[in-house]
Amino acid sequence: MVDKLRVLITRQQIAAKVAELGARITADFPGEPVLLIGVLKGAAVFLADLARQIQLDVSFDFIAVSSYGNAKQQSGEVRLVKDVDSVEGKNIILVEDILDTGLTLTYIRNLLQAHRPKALKIAALLDKASRRTEPVCADYVGFQIPDEFVVGYGLDFAEHYRNLPDICVLESDSSTA
Ligand code: 5GP
Repeated sequence: MVDKLRVLITRQQIAAKVAELGARITADFPGEPVLLIGVLKGAAVFLADLARQIQLDVSFDFIAVSSYGNAKQQSGEVRLVKDVDSVEGKNIILVEDILDTGLTLTYIRNLLQAHRPKALKIAALLDKASRRTEPVCADYVGFQIPDEFVVGYGLDFAEHYRNLPDICVLESDSSTA
């Protein structure tokens, strides 16, 4: 069995969308500093590109929670692996690669909210709205996508494919030995 990749969103489409999101964030926080908090590891590529499209005083931090691991299925449990520095009184934009069931972002949002940021917004490059089980939505969404497993542009399968410039659907071709 080999993995087959089908391009779903091209690097050009991603670049245009990230520029659009950066311009919206710039307009929403005129003259104010913002702290981007990326959810490791998947959001690292998106955060790096998004940060350079925001014309404000931008700083970074990263948070890590337990994730899919090597499987395409989620356990339903979220665990904090790496916390962030103080968020109190700051304009926070939580940067996530993909919003799926919403369990991860609900957990992180509640965690950060407890430390009284000035503002807390969510930027998700991808949104699989049909999979949502938690009442959470992103303020800045790149693309709505169908319920398919995607890799590339930071997203992995068993740590592979994060460096693909396009977002691709990972299809298992069982007809090829
Ligand atoms: P949620 O907690 O919203 O169900 O899931 C969010 C996390 O699940 C994402 O940060 C990502 O790690 C993982 N995830 C969900 N869908 C996909 C997918 O299609 N591809 C990959 N690579 N990860 C996914």
